[in-house]
Amino acid sequence: MIPYGRQIIDETDIQEVVEVLRSDWLTTGPLVGRFEKAVAEYCETSFGVAVSSGTAALHTAFYAAGIGPGDEVITSPITFPATANAALYLGAKPVFADVNPDTLLIDPEIAEQKITPETKAIVTVDYAGQTCDYDALRYICSRHELTLIADSCHAIGARYKGRKTGSLADYTIFSFHPVKHICTGEGGMILTEDPDQAEKMRRFRNHGINSDVHQRHKEGSWLYGVEELGFNYRITDIQSSLGISQLQKLDKWLEERNSIATLYREHFSTSEVIHPLADHEYGFHAYHLFVVRIPGEKRQKIFRKMRAAEVGVNVHYIPVHLHPLYRDLGYIPGLCPVAEQVYESILSLPIFPSLGEQNVDYISGTLKQLLEEA
Ligand SMILES: *Cc1c(COP(=O)(O)O)cnc(C)c1O
Repeated sequence: MIPYGRQIIDETDIQEVVEVLRSDWLTTGPLVGRFEKAVAEYCETSFGVAVSSGTAALHTAFYAAGIGPGDEVITSPITFPATANAALYLGAKPVFADVNPDTLLIDPEIAEQKITPETKAIVTVDYAGQTCDYDALRYICSRHELTLIADSCHAIGARYKGRKTGSLADYTIFSFHPVKHICTGEGGMILTEDPDQAEKMRRFRNHGINSDVHQRHKEGSWLYGVEELGFNYRITDIQSSLGISQLQKLDKWLEERNSIATLYREHFSTSEVIHPLADHEYGFHAYHLFVVRIPGEKRQKIFRKMRAAEVGVNVHYIPVHLHPLYRDLGYIPGLCPVAEQVYESILSLPIFPSLGEQNVDYISGTLKQLLEEA
């Protein structure tokens, strides 16, 4: 089965990890900070705070943004549920704003209509690897004094009008799960320009303690204080070393992902029934996913037949408000009609750097043929 995404680990990655295993620090050592600096620098942003997953990064950023009980957080329904769940962790209410049907990115106008006196933040999702319209979103956030949080788990290395993700919102979240662009096994990071918020997030990932063990070790002190209720969201040095090594290859991988997307687009350019999502002219696409729209009534059948042909197609995503948890909380179908309708017709095709042109030809040919027969 060709998966829809997978990691690439080479000998250099393995050597870097082995070196850490032989060192004194398996966790909370020097490599965590080095990984944070490397990602922040890559993203042209001041501070990175590395944590144990993208989900932990969302929780940490929402906490730092002061989101709490009674607050509302506006976000996209077309995302992994972790984006909205982070609001629930803090007793806040996710409010879903519908998406643009051509890109599945949050529609800034609809997001603005959802603002109430309770709204605290807008959380964007750079779906599939393409950035949202940050000029519009920043303007809305500044007018209404809201925090802008970007779930950029799909979009490390993407650009909006020349600026990289990481520098486009008050807080930006990345995940380093193996299906994402660079991996650490599990892992995540928050980027921000605000040094005080970075410090706050470093405390939150470490039980709310005011200085980490490495710092205490250097200072020769046993003193520490739990200042607020935090979690253990720490990332290890083992993971950080893998992340640093993977980051060296990110630019090359982004180019390869774009080449694959171009090939797919060529294959489907003459098709009447296969429509890739639109690629905005304002930025550089990171292509975490390659998503096509096909006739909705045929999707179930095509999905099964593609899987039978060893192609690991997938669907990203079931609109979050339709999940049982959210239905139990009172969310109902019809809240986001565009998302709900487009969801019926989307299909994610495999895309990752080592996929190869032959596989792209095979996947495209199989999809076209199956749709003709269906
Ligand atoms: C992967 C992902 C997450 C969660 O990241 P984990 O590292 O798996 O916790 C959150 N949001 C989006 C959009 C994602 O793709």
